[in-house]
Amino acid sequence: MNWIEDLCKQFGIKVKLINLKNAGGTANVFSREIILNKKFIKINNPDKYTLHIVCHEICHILGFDNNKYINYYTKAYQSAPLNNVKHIRKIALKAERYTDKMARKMVKSAYPDMVYYSIYPKKWFYDNWLNKYFPINKRESK
Ligand SMILES: [Zn+2]
Repeated sequence: MNWIEDLCKQFGIKVKLINLKNAGGTANVFSREIILNKKFIKINNPDKYTLHIVCHEICHILGFDNNKYINYYTKAYQSAPLNNVKHIRKIALKAERYTDKMARKMVKSAYPDMVYYSIYPKKWFYDNWLNKYFPINKRESK
């Protein structure tokens, strides 16, 4: 068992490594599974990016366990009406930042010698997620 599986097991989380198209990792809070991008994950010698991705995805599930931003993970969120887009975008960013704060604490306590990579990469999130799936149209930006 590698350290990632070991860490996940402590929280009852399954882990899978595959090639993901557009993310370092994803978390399924309902099946308690994180999926990590093979390309970015260093199993034998974890670097700061690996730690960031692994701990961030674990913390999505732990946050959900603590009832934090649960709407973010539900179908209601994914299929929310367009007139709710601004609200959705706000919740999404808050949820991601909350998750990242937890992840930072996790890295700090489990790997005190490692530096946490960064706060949640806001620009990445806007470019690859929010603006793609929940764009603000002209009607709404008025
Ligand atoms: Zn996230």
